[in-house]
Amino acid sequence: MKNNYTLPGLHYGYSDLAPHISEEQLTIHHSKHHQGYVDGANKILDQLEEARKNNTEIDSKSVLKNLSFNIGGHILHSLFWDNLSPNGGGEPAGKLKSAIDEDFGSFERFKEEFSKSAVSVEGSGWSALVVDKKSGRLLIMQIEKHNTNIYPESKILMVVDVWEHAYYLDYKNARAEFVEAFWNILNWGEIEKRFSA
Ligand code: MN
Repeated sequence: MKNNYTLPGLHYGYSDLAPHISEEQLTIHHSKHHQGYVDGANKILDQLEEARKNNTEIDSKSVLKNLSFNIGGHILHSLFWDNLSPNGGGEPAGKLKSAIDEDFGSFERFKEEFSKSAVSVEGSGWSALVVDKKSGRLLIMQIEKHNTNIYPESKILMVVDVWEHAYYLDYKNARAEFVEAFWNILNWGEIEKRFSA
């Protein structure tokens, strides 16, 4: 028997990312929205197990789409919480800094492209910095919902959630203001760790 998905704890308190993300916003986002994806994924896994046990049909197209959506939501949120910190901000250092300079020209240029990607996601989604395992190249990935536009075999280094549920209580419809604030709570140490691993 494999483990079910569980909601990971945060490495900081619900009020620690204020004023960039308020206590109310972070509490609802983590304890309600993220929990919803965890529960959603577990429910589908249970249904699949049940169907296999009883040898009943599975509506593969809708079930697997739903499973991808919920697992995607769970994994992306887990990465997001870890790449935030109350002591965040600043710029990357070491190998990651060199790679960003090499692939984007400069940190400023990377920041501009990444913010633009985040602000322009159509509907709900994410912007991610990834490293493509085949080429070693850093790429920006603009994810729609939790699972569309993903580059296979790329490793996610950092993400920002631009679903309205991530910022609406604090910023209303001003997504660009939330994205600007996000840079102040970015945990570069964690991102460098992922890059070096
Ligand atoms: Mn979210």
